Amino acid sequence: MFRSLHMKLVLILILMIISVMVVMGTFLINSVGNYYLRDFYDKVTGLFDYNMRVSLEQAAQGENGAKHLEEMVAAHTSSLGISNHRSYYILDENGAYLAGPRPPSSALGTTPNMLAAMAGEVGITNAAIDSYMDAAYPIDGGTQDYIIYICDDKKEIQELTWRFFSIVLETMVFGLLVSVLLSFLLSKTITTPIEHIKKQAQLVATGDFSHRLPIQSGDEIGSLTETFNDMAAMLQSTLGEVQEERDKLSTLFLHMTDGVAAFSTDGRIIHMNPATERLMGVTFDESMTFNQVFTGLEMPASANERKVVSSEIIRRGRTLNVLLAPYGAADGERGVIAVIHDITEQRKLDDARREFVANVSHELRTPLTNIKSYTETLMDAAGELPADTEKRFLGVISGEADRMTRIVKDLLTLSKLDYGRMDLAFRQFSMKEMLETIYTAMKLDAENNGHQLTLEFQDDIPDITGDKERLEQVVVNIISNAVKYTPAGGHIHVTAALQMPKSILLRIQDDGMGIPAEDVPRLFERFYRVDKARSRQKGGTGLGLAIAKEMVEAHHGTIHLESELGKGTTVTIILPTDLKEAGNG
Ligand code: ADP
Repeated sequence: MFRSLHMKLVLILILMIISVMVVMGTFLINSVGNYYLRDFYDKVTGLFDYNMRVSLEQAAQGENGAKHLEEMVAAHTSSLGISNHRSYYILDENGAYLAGPRPPSSALGTTPNMLAAMAGEVGITNAAIDSYMDAAYPIDGGTQDYIIYICDDKKEIQELTWRFFSIVLETMVFGLLVSVLLSFLLSKTITTPIEHIKKQAQLVATGDFSHRLPIQSGDEIGSLTETFNDMAAMLQSTLGEVQEERDKLSTLFLHMTDGVAAFSTDGRIIHMNPATERLMGVTFDESMTFNQVFTGLEMPASANERKVVSSEIIRRGRTLNVLLAPYGAADGERGVIAVIHDITEQRKLDDARREFVANVSHELRTPLTNIKSYTETLMDAAGELPADTEKRFLGVISGEADRMTRIVKDLLTLSKLDYGRMDLAFRQFSMKEMLETIYTAMKLDAENNGHQLTLEFQDDIPDITGDKERLEQVVVNIISNAVKYTPAGGHIHVTAALQMPKSILLRIQDDGMGIPAEDVPRLFERFYRVDKARSRQKGGTGLGLAIAKEMVEAHHGTIHLESELGKGTTVTIILPTDLKEAGNG
């Protein structure tokens, strides 16, 4: 109940008022009592001084002493303050009433002062706690002793005290009412801005920074409001920065190709990016564990050891490299971060490179072996072999040397294309003329192989910018392939046409042996041959199509091969005509 500031203020003010009033009331009432007491004795002792007492004793001599005494005291009633509540009595030495303005309403008790007077002493003992105050003077009347006894029943003090008490009580009640009202107003002026700040703080807690509190006073509350506004603004900008950083990170996390996943020390999933889901073939689920995601892999046991464990796993036909690294501060959250990198392509490249080296070695070894064996035979049987056999052997050696030269030349060309060091001499030339030249040069060769070579221009073929020598080499190579892989009596048809919007389409079509469907996609790979023996026999290196592809692409064109086993093969080359300048890539 007294939790609220308002109630606390009310309580403090009430307690303050009550204690002030109690202290004040007690002090006032006490002062009044003491004043009256002092006044009574001052008056009595002031009147009954030595001279008065001598006069009184003289008046008391003889007959009617009591009456004389009464008359003498009666002359000083006003200085004694005689009233309804205060009276004087002339008593005999035993305290019996003899004379006075009125007889006592009840029997006069034997008070200590009266007893003192009976014993001949003046009785003016202060009697603050008694319900009366009195004074008694013994008067020696010669034949009879008297006692002048002044007594006050303190009723007047009590009345006054009561009146003071009522005033204090009334003042207190009034003060309390005022204090409740004041405390209410006071607490309102304090709590209202605090309430506002509280509401604002609640808004800030929910992330709403759009409002600022008006500063209504220059006091502590005002400066609190100002500080609060500053804090909210600071918080807003800091949170904004943090959010921005988080957004950046989560975007990075979301779109990175590598998978990243975090696990707690007990193996529970904390986070996982889409790449992880894709690479591992899982869907995020909060109950997921390390073992479910990385079946067969062991989670690093101690997160304390800052050791990165690298493993390779195969998932859904892809080779993945998984790096497991412990994370966490000494007293913070700990766990393991997994980074998953798809190394399938890298592996493929490595394999291709290895295969290429093996192929090169193999391709070079065959002619070298042939050269060596024929040379040895010639050396062993020097001068013994018939001249024509010797000539034939030397012809084989020369042919093998030529093949090696071709292979090395082709490899050199490919290497230059790979590293962009191929110097292509770009210039404008007539494609029509180039094709006609090739046609004229190869027609005889084709006919010697029993084929029919035809050239057709479907459109008016425009000039083209490119390296004429290299493109010529490409076309010759493809026509040679058609000649090579078509049994005698075949037809080889070369077509040139315009391809919209700005390209020339070259088609070299044969009705030869064709290529099995499964080999077609790999034909542009280096050293790939359908029939190795036939290729070698025909002087092929297995690099022709690979070079053709690189070369056409260096001219920003495309090359495409379609084939059907037993029916024939069609190679299509598309080259842009508006190529102004080009590099190798
Ligand atoms: P090669 O030097 O062996 O001719 P290429 O790279 O030029 O090498 O050709 C690769 C392989 O493609 C050849 O070995 C051959 O098996 C096949 N090939 C190419 N052109 C044709 C074609 N017109 N008809 C049938 N097979 C072909």
